[in-house]
Amino acid sequence: MSLLHLSEVSAFYGPSQALFRVDLDVAEGEVVALMGRNGMGKTTTVKTICRMLPAAGGDLRFAGQDLRKLPSHRAARLGLGLVPEGRRCFPNLTVAENLAAAARPGPWDAAAVARLFPVLADRRDQMAASLSGGEQQMLAIGRALMTNPRLLLLDEATEGLAPLVRAEIWEAVAALKRDTGLAILVIDKSLRELSRIADRAVILQRGETVWTGAMPDLSPHITDRYLGV
Ligand code: ATP
Repeated sequence: MSLLHLSEVSAFYGPSQALFRVDLDVAEGEVVALMGRNGMGKTTTVKTICRMLPAAGGDLRFAGQDLRKLPSHRAARLGLGLVPEGRRCFPNLTVAENLAAAARPGPWDAAAVARLFPVLADRRDQMAASLSGGEQQMLAIGRALMTNPRLLLLDEATEGLAPLVRAEIWEAVAALKRDTGLAILVIDKSLRELSRIADRAVILQRGETVWTGAMPDLSPHITDRYLGV
């Protein structure tokens, strides 16, 4: 059974329909890449999963529960760990306070986050606003892990970062997959990095799932058709 299951999900921003028919599954321990050109509905799909935007239609289930019936704070407690686009943290709280504010019971605590991102231990008493972009991204991932999620949702976690920092973040995501078997839904622009880490891909076009398959089956024909510029 899938941990996360979406079928024929639709969603609107006011009168404007952004999702028409999204089909997406993530199994326990699986890393799924959610792909598509700009504006095709990836972030909207993540917002709908996390109940920040209501699903207008379709089936949306997480760990066997009907997410459409739950308010967003309850959905988060079910184990959805979102790292939102734009790496939002509390700028005027320290690193330690940011992590503590997100904490929920489970194996992920500040010490475990510091093992994954040692720089956060060095910066623990610094205000989040004073961190570099890469450090803020690590903190955003750390905060999501502190909720002890069953599914981590990474929306453009490496956007705008320097190559070395990006590599460090991809290495951490690979370590999560390898060492913890955490299920991950990942959105990113780098096909090369996604090919390395993801088991499967789901491609959206204009709010609709147009391709789903194993990562090795993502042929140049498919990428040209749906991801090419
Ligand atoms: P990107 O890679 O650019 O972030 P995306 O695939 O995540 O793209 P979305 O941000 O989900 O795409 O956008 C899907 C559609 O919904 C687009 O047509 C976009 O213009 C529209 N949209 C996104 N956010 C809003 C909003 N707050 N209000 C109205 N329309 C929106």
